[in-house]
Amino acid sequence: MKTECLVLPHDPGWDEARLAWNLAVDQQPAAVALPESAEEVARVVRWARSRGLRIAPQGTGHNAGAMGSLAHTVLVKTERMRGVEIDPENQRARVEAGVLWAEVSEAAAEHGLAALAGSSPDVGVVGYSLGGGISWLARRYGLAANSVTAVELVNADGELVRADAENEPELFWALRGGGGSFGVVTALEFTLYPITEVYAGVLFFPVERGAEILRAWRRWIEDVPDEVTSVGRFLQFPPLPEIPEPLRGGSFVVVEATYLGDEESAEELLRPLRELGPSMDTFATIPVQTLNKLHMDPEQPVPCVGDGMLLGDFPEEAIDALVAAAGAGSGSPLLSVEVRHLGGALARLQPGHGALATIEAGFAMFAVGMSMTPEMGAAMHAHVEVVQAALARWDAGRDYLNFTERRERGERLFGGATYRRLQTVKGRVDPDDVFRSNHPVRLPAPRLRKAA
Ligand SMILES: Cc1cc2nc3c(=O)[nH]c(=O)nc-3n(C[C@H](O)[C@H](O)[C@H](O)COP(=O)(O)OP(=O)(O)OC[C@H]3O[C@@H](n4cnc5c(N)ncnc54)[C@H](O)[C@@H]3O)c2cc1C
Repeated sequence: MKTECLVLPHDPGWDEARLAWNLAVDQQPAAVALPESAEEVARVVRWARSRGLRIAPQGTGHNAGAMGSLAHTVLVKTERMRGVEIDPENQRARVEAGVLWAEVSEAAAEHGLAALAGSSPDVGVVGYSLGGGISWLARRYGLAANSVTAVELVNADGELVRADAENEPELFWALRGGGGSFGVVTALEFTLYPITEVYAGVLFFPVERGAEILRAWRRWIEDVPDEVTSVGRFLQFPPLPEIPEPLRGGSFVVVEATYLGDEESAEELLRPLRELGPSMDTFATIPVQTLNKLHMDPEQPVPCVGDGMLLGDFPEEAIDALVAAAGAGSGSPLLSVEVRHLGGALARLQPGHGALATIEAGFAMFAVGMSMTPEMGAAMHAHVEVVQAALARWDAGRDYLNFTERRERGERLFGGATYRRLQTVKGRVDPDDVFRSNHPVRLPAPRLRKAA
């Protein structure tokens, strides 16, 4: 029996239903499901299984690029599941699978609380948290995945399951960093933190000062406390009318940062960077829920091509290599090439952590460009590879799932021992490999039978 929320090829609305947030990705599944409840998700899973189809859960399609062919697959889009509940007393949120970060941040702020939201207001809470989750508060509070306290999901038998520290603890471990290979998540619960304001902003400098500014930023972060999370970045704004002056059409090297502290100590902390004489300085004390504007991410679906890499370190030679690949005179067509400072709580094991316990790298690079046409997409892809090649000497040997938009080996995403443990969980909860993730955990290799 076809469930109400299914859209099939040739149905009206098919082209809209199969869109991903990343409009450069042409998704061609066998069917799209738009469930409104966990029960409806369960019906879709049973329907797909009865027809021998696989299932790919999707929140927004921000990381749809890595998914590959969706043939024989039902794309389960959770965008209609938008419930948000805040429990101020226990400092917890429970959100349904289609909720976006801006929605939680706003709801939590009404109670003087903050979530470990990503840089973009419209990234999905679930996809981001299953992949790790590096927020503007990451060096102080660690990965968002490790603040998750419970996951509700529909399993391969079409049953609703709750995974937390007491129920299904191994599945709970796998879901926190292991991605979307284990079921369709219908809701998440996670810890909120008592934060109402942060000191945050961006310092803009002319792109020609790239080496000088990135070196100064690199020296500055040597001594900053975990309360500071910051980014060094090249930005080239297209000359589009919707981009405000004086950014429209401009190229910059910028430092973006947040600081969990009072304004007086913030001014003192920021002084070495301010003394460099930025052409624009937006630092101020701001409500924590407005942090999602800081990174200037697009708030609507766009066509883009991007990819990241983790860097063990980002010394002066690496800065020079990045400037040559993405700075002034490099010919880079990319909109943004950023290097995020990691460490702090991202490098410390938290008790009861999930599959992505820490990020074993000093820095995360992400490069992205707009791709209005396939030719533009190819040019952006080629230049992202130029940037990655320039930094290859400092490759940390691992990748961060959320910043990886190509197919990558599981060992590189998780490390060998963690990946094998994830495979064991996958083999137990989804032995027929029904659930497809953009970064799949493969079934363990079948054990050879002992000779009789
Ligand atoms: C503009 C932009 C800004 C970003 N900023 C940050 C940032 O600050 N920090 C950071 O860590 N990352 C960031 N990211 C990366 C982002 O976290 C990943 O792209 C993440 O996968 C997006 O999750 P989503 O649900 O929105 O995307 P989707 O593409 O919908 O989901 C990605 C994957 O998550 C899994 N998934 C999603 N929903 C479900 C579900 N209900 N059940 C089971 N599996 C599911 C699936 O495997 C899916 O393929 C950013 C990305 C973009 C494009």
